[in-house]
Amino acid sequence: MTVRSNLTKEECFDLVQFVCDAFRLKNPESAIAAIVEHLRDVFDADCVSIHEVFSRPHSLRCIYETLRDPENKKRVNNILSFTDDVWNHATDKFSAGHNSYRADRPGDEPLLIGPVPITPMCVMQMPMRSGDDFLGVLDVVYFADVREWTEYEIAALNVCANYITHYQYKLSSIYLDDDYDPVTGLLNLHAFTERVDKKLMEVPDNCIMAVIYSDIHHFKYINETYGYKKGDELIKLAAQATKDNLSRYSDVLICHLYADHFVIALVVPETAVHSFAVATHSDNLKVREILQSNCPNVMIHIDTGIYFIKDANITAATAIANANLARKLGKSESIHEPVIFSDKMMEDIKYQEFLNNELPKAIENRQLKVYYQPKINCEDDSLYGAEALVRWQRPDGSFIYPDKFIPIFERNGNITEVDYYVYREVFRYIRERIDKGLPVFPISMNVSRVHLRSNKIVSYIKSLLEEYCVPPELVEFELTENIYMNDFSKADEFVRACRKLGIRVSMDDFGSGYSSLNLISSITIDTLKIDRIFLKNPDLSENDKTVIETMIIMAKRLGMKVICEGVETELQARFLKSVKCDQIQGYYYGRPMDEKSFCLFTEKILAK
Ligand code: C2E
Ligand code: CA
Ligand code: CA
Repeated sequence: MTVRSNLTKEECFDLVQFVCDAFRLKNPESAIAAIVEHLRDVFDADCVSIHEVFSRPHSLRCIYETLRDPENKKRVNNILSFTDDVWNHATDKFSAGHNSYRADRPGDEPLLIGPVPITPMCVMQMPMRSGDDFLGVLDVVYFADVREWTEYEIAALNVCANYITHYQYKLSSIYLDDDYDPVTGLLNLHAFTERVDKKLMEVPDNCIMAVIYSDIHHFKYINETYGYKKGDELIKLAAQATKDNLSRYSDVLICHLYADHFVIALVVPETAVHSFAVATHSDNLKVREILQSNCPNVMIHIDTGIYFIKDANITAATAIANANLARKLGKSESIHEPVIFSDKMMEDIKYQEFLNNELPKAIENRQLKVYYQPKINCEDDSLYGAEALVRWQRPDGSFIYPDKFIPIFERNGNITEVDYYVYREVFRYIRERIDKGLPVFPISMNVSRVHLRSNKIVSYIKSLLEEYCVPPELVEFELTENIYMNDFSKADEFVRACRKLGIRVSMDDFGSGYSSLNLISSITIDTLKIDRIFLKNPDLSENDKTVIETMIIMAKRLGMKVICEGVETELQARFLKSVKCDQIQGYYYGRPMDEKSFCLFTEKILAK
């Protein structure tokens, strides 16, 4: 443990200057992200995060986080819930100012910290407040070292927290002399939320308040390509077009949040709810037409989310957040029509939260199970090996399948832990078979794109090879085609490192995305794994056959082996054998099975 040195007074002033500049030059979201990174840099901390008070009682949600070590799992969007006592104690303490914690100082305690990637040795916690309201906390965390904080450092962090609070919630008075945004003349967020909250109390019977959150798709690109002046012009046009559209309603509030983000609140009769999305879509098309004619070279869309406030306990802030969530969901799925927030979306968020909270326990209690799906040699129907596939067995015996949790854990980095657990299980399994003198076969494991952000995976694999003394030819790794498409050089680096260790690598899901033939000719991969999408038709059309055969010929010319996954029928298996596919994997030969069943399967196939 070392004791870190402090920033000089000048460095503290520079930090404050950085914060002011960030908000002057960037939109609030990017500015806050840049400040969080900068704080970690100047304080040389292991982690800097911002948690905001979530809409549920006594909960915080991580909204920004940066970690020195990219292998540590990020907690962004994780929600922490606390008991009344813990919450009240912490907010009381925060009302008196910051909290400085050192593990080696008796009496210190970290407040509302929740599970952290590594138990911290030292934390500085600066509350974010508006008046008496506690809105969140900015944490600067050290995992292994400690430090003291000078009055200048504390003052600078306080300025950071205040600015972040102000721009995140547009609540402070420094910026908001009146209720209107100077660029568009529309309401600013502060005035908007206040008015919506007031209006919510006056919604007539048989009517409902709708909150609409919109942004212009690709606006950042427009700003960067045509300049900020053009960007501002478009914002003004969008604001005017929105006002014109909504002039047919008598009672409507429109807010310019920042950059290209707008929120609208209006009261509609319940009978109009079912057609509201359609009406909003046609309003959007009018705005789009105006923007498009001013910016003909960029394809413009408007992404919109709608939330209907049906519950008397919902505040404007929650309604805006929910409409925004629906917008983001539509955006991520490229739905260029308004998306209505649904209870299902809320359920999904809660489910994700549940899985994230349960994962550490699942790993500790060995609820993650490795299943093995056989791979068969086409030549003689012998066993080539297997693919390791993870399942999560809940204490009640039910299973959660990887499609349900892997994407969630890929988003927050928890996938690393899942995969390391799977890899270790596979190495243990192979070692046990070798020790018992049983026949062994290569087992392949899946690699998530998250691993490639750091080089730790390679040293982890190396350490497993040494610890379990497993010959490298008995393990293989599968990288999906997408990984290559997204970060070719990182994927290539990983493949080279594996091959140096004597480990084979295959390209998984080949043909499922927009992979090009160029891609496979430019990498050194051992095996091409043709995606199961090509076998969706049990009888195989002539087209399917041609495509599969062509892929096999091409891969073989490039010196690769070929495996086809998702083989479900005898006809498919026969065809693949006839076109000289090397291996087959699919329900036709065997479903993924637990370790015990796979041992029996192995015995049976060897006895044939
Ligand atoms: P994948 O790597 O493409 O794995 C093959 C998936 O196809 C498996 O689904 C397998 O059960 C399924 N499958 C195999 N044969 C057939 C067949 O004949 N017909 C049909 N319809 N499906 C078949 P599973 O186990 O649900 O895994 C889904 C995905 O989750 C995997 O796709 C992989 O991307 C990911 N995954 C599974 N385990 C792990 C893991 O340990 N780590 C990582 N990073 N990802 C994993
Ligand atoms: Ca796979
Ligand atoms: Ca696959």
